[in-house]
Amino acid sequence: MIRCSNCEKGKFRRRIVESHDVSPLLGLDQVMLLKTPALVCDHCGTVTVEGEVLESVMASLARLIVEQGEELRPKEVRYLRETLDLTQAELAERLGLKRLTVVRWESGAVGIGRAQSLALRSLVAWHLDDPRLARQIASLAPRLGPRTIPPYRIKRMAS
Ligand SMILES: [Zn+2]
Repeated sequence: MIRCSNCEKGKFRRRIVESHDVSPLLGLDQVMLLKTPALVCDHCGTVTVEGEVLESVMASLARLIVEQGEELRPKEVRYLRETLDLTQAELAERLGLKRLTVVRWESGAVGIGRAQSLALRSLVAWHLDDPRLARQIASLAPRLGPRTIPPYRIKRMAS
């Protein structure tokens, strides 16, 4: 049995926790684990999520973020980049951009925009080895932004 590092009095016991906030751990907002196995201190109640569980949680979370069609928020950009195991410079290179652009997305100085959100989501879908998810993202592409081609106005020629 592992001694609790928080209170140094109790011991960790394996339990199913009803709800546990892992936002600080993952650097995202409002991420709750529900009915998840974890180690809980029998004295102070400190909850520790084991590496194996955390890894599967992180992959599920990446999927959840990828499945949405909205513009990614700064913390989500960083989270997905880390899922890809890329540096800011490496991600910029993949997308044909400068490192500073990625730095600005992650700091929130500049919005990533829907088109680049989609490009990043697509990279992650392939990284997760999920072709179904990649196709789902690709299907979102035509709905991006306003049409750039103006309506065709064709005047009928006199015969
Ligand atoms: Zn404790």
